[in-house]
Amino acid sequence: MRVVGLHPGVLVATSRVFQTACTIVRDGDECLVIDSPVLPDELDMLPALLEQAGFPFSGLLATHGDWDHLLGRLAFAGAALGVAETTAARLTAEPGDAARRLRAFDDELYLERSAPLSLGQVQALPVPGQLDVGSQTIELHPTEGHVADGMALWLPWAGVLVAGDFLSPVEIPMISRGGSRSAYLATLERLRPLVEEADHVVAGHGGAIDAARALAILREDVAYLEGLPDSKLPLARRSDEQKRIHGENLERL
Ligand SMILES: [Zn+2]
Repeated sequence: MRVVGLHPGVLVATSRVFQTACTIVRDGDECLVIDSPVLPDELDMLPALLEQAGFPFSGLLATHGDWDHLLGRLAFAGAALGVAETTAARLTAEPGDAARRLRAFDDELYLERSAPLSLGQVQALPVPGQLDVGSQTIELHPTEGHVADGMALWLPWAGVLVAGDFLSPVEIPMISRGGSRSAYLATLERLRPLVEEADHVVAGHGGAIDAARALAILREDVAYLEGLPDSKLPLARRSDEQKRIHGENLERL
């Protein structure tokens, strides 16, 4: 797991699997953990990481309802999980889905965990909306298009945008179940002014990147989506796995 500091109150831990990014935000005596790393040893390390940094844990947040972002409770048992209203509705409609997908992933890699995943108390947050951490205010922005649910978190005092599964340097735009090209493009336009104002963007897969790179990725992603079904894959995202995702996008068009 790679850990970088973006601001005295913002750490990003990036998982060795899927490069799933976990953003840790602290102000005063509050600290929120957004999304999660994936591997058991990485999750085990999180509480110690917070303690070392002197960040007092307050609660969990998730950018959207895909299973690999929802594992925070394996590190902080009993913690409440705050998500967008759209994500809360999805989690209610698909009870146990994240736990099942995690089990399938673990089975494939022969991974063992000390406990199964239970999401516990899920708090639905109005999005667009705001959320306080210490004396600072996080802005919540809706991000549909990848899936049907989700939010991006804008931390204006730190110049950090936590984008969820958008603006990834390692993954092309993925239109999954519940997503759509038009909604994805609308989300990118909603994120654009925030990226222009940001110092750093945290991509749900790929971790922290600087704003100039995020803007370049945004332009590539708009071109890719607008060019479908005939678009070429962005130069840095042309592996067999990205070609497979591209094939799935074409099926969903
Ligand atoms: Zn994801």
